[in-house]
This record gives sequence, structure tokens and C-alpha cells, in this order.
Amino acid sequence: MFSDSERAALSWRWLFFRRALRKCCPQCGAGALFRGFARLNTECPGCGLRFRREHGSQTGAMYLSATLTEIFAAALALALFFLTDLDKFTALGLGVAVVVAVSYLLLPLTMAVWTAVEYATDVSNSEPWTAPRR
Ligand SMILES: [Zn+2]
Repeated sequence: MFSDSERAALSWRWLFFRRALRKCCPQCGAGALFRGFARLNTECPGCGLRFRREHGSQTGAMYLSATLTEIFAAALALALFFLTDLDKFTALGLGVAVVVAVSYLLLPLTMAVWTAVEYATDVSNSEPWTAPRR
């Protein structure tokens, strides 16, 4: 199904995502992605990889966060409608508060995943500064 080189490329990409999900640099796996909650470092303290190379580089994280939040909001709305006897104002107030909280809590995850997506894309395009390190 996959050639050896394709399998190796997939293996590298999974490594980038595993590192990002641990909130570590996708390139070296040692440096921290964040310096605080949802505050992405400008570059890796371990290897120097720039996480934000251009304006708008985290726009994909915003779309990813919005998509996940909307899916969650739809599931929550259905659950509140079908599984509870709450009146509509209580359900709406509870639903909005939970959705806003979930959206905020998703930010570091979506930023980390998007950083890995950008890095994997740059590695695929053979950008000279993206040599993977183990
Ligand atoms: Zn690094």
C-alpha cells in the first residue's frame, strides 16, 4: 500500500503530532511550545525552530478551534434539549457558559496541533530549515 519512503514520511508526521500534543516542539521534541496558557513561544528554546514565522500563522488554529467548538456546541444543545427538563433560558445560559469555557480550554490543543500541521507541511515541501531531529 505504502512505499518505504511514504511510510517513513507518515512516521515522521505522527512523531510531529505526538510531540505537539505533549506541548513540545515538533522538530526536536525537547523545547516547550508554550510559555503560559495558550501563549505560544516565538521559537523553540531547545532548537530555535520559529513557531510563528509570519503574521496569521495561527489562523488555522482559530478555524480548528471554531470547528471543534461548534461540533461540541451542537452536541451539547442536542443533549440539553433531549436529555434534560431545563427551561430554555436555563439551558441557553448553561450551554453558552459551557461552550465558552470549552472553546477557551481548546486553545492550547488547537494551537499545538496547528503548529505541527505547519511544520509537517514545511518538511513535506523540503524547506531547508526543517530537518527533523530525534
Ligand atoms: Zn525544538
